[in-house]
Amino acid sequence: MTLYSKRSVTEPVNAMSRTGRFVHSYIITGDKGTGKKTAAKYIAMQLLCDSKNACGICRQCSRILRDQHPDLIHVQKEGRSYGVDVIREKVVEDSYISPNDCERKVYLLSDCDGWTDAAQDALLKITEDPPETAYFIFTARNRSFFLPTLISRSMVMDVHEADREECAKALREHGFEEDKIKEAVESFGGNIGRCIEFLEGNDKLMRSAEAVRKCTEAISMRDEYTLAAVLSSISSDRNEMRDALEMLARAIRDSAVMRCGKGSAIGCAAKGSADMAERFSAQKLLDMYEAVCEISSACAANCNTAAAAAVLAGRLLN
Ligand SMILES: [Zn+2]
Repeated sequence: MTLYSKRSVTEPVNAMSRTGRFVHSYIITGDKGTGKKTAAKYIAMQLLCDSKNACGICRQCSRILRDQHPDLIHVQKEGRSYGVDVIREKVVEDSYISPNDCERKVYLLSDCDGWTDAAQDALLKITEDPPETAYFIFTARNRSFFLPTLISRSMVMDVHEADREECAKALREHGFEEDKIKEAVESFGGNIGRCIEFLEGNDKLMRSAEAVRKCTEAISMRDEYTLAAVLSSISSDRNEMRDALEMLARAIRDSAVMRCGKGSAIGCAAKGSADMAERFSAQKLLDMYEAVCEISSACAANCNTAAAAAVLAGRLLN
């Protein structure tokens, strides 16, 4: 299994594999498309592999890669989030039952963004004093979604996008054409997941990217009316809005870095990023970045997305 730019995961996990002593609870954070689920599967492979080396080819590893391993339990959400009952029954109680096929079992709770404190409270005892055979992996876009107590009981690992060369290499392995790969990497940088979505023609992603481009232009023109209209247009779909805000945050972060004289903007909003860098102070850009991140996190929970869009437009240009 090839993992790109995942040293933050592979190094500590390989070290544990060498001693055979693994932490029981893991939190993996990173933007959408940066490979959190791939990293989670890698940890599961290290825990369950027949040759104890995440070989990628043994019976255990190949079933993990096909999402068909009975001891890698993909816990399902109820609606948008993990309910307390699901956590109690499908994770806590179940973890005391012996594994099906291996010496260990792994629970994967993906996209924990916006889950409740009550759901996490239900996990505290089991993560503090887990059954010997049970391991837990949680993923989310950032660590603000986790209670400090759960963080303190877990190994927290941040994953980042690959560099552009590595990303292109990964896309070649997927069999995409060279000129298309170039276009994808120019639009979405080293974010392999987003590049693949783009190359597979994901309409929602293209709409989000277009909205982000318009937002950065409206911000640089200080055109609050257009900004509010664009943000409002994406607020009807919560996931689309979150994706767009994540890309907008990145574009603003690129502007702040450029304002400090480093780096250059890439991606679908490159021109808007460059214009913002010329027209706003570094401090204002950082304030804008924080505003977008805050509203994006609120959208992961239960906030009214239309109201959030309106609040954000005001905060960005005031
Ligand atoms: Zn294996």
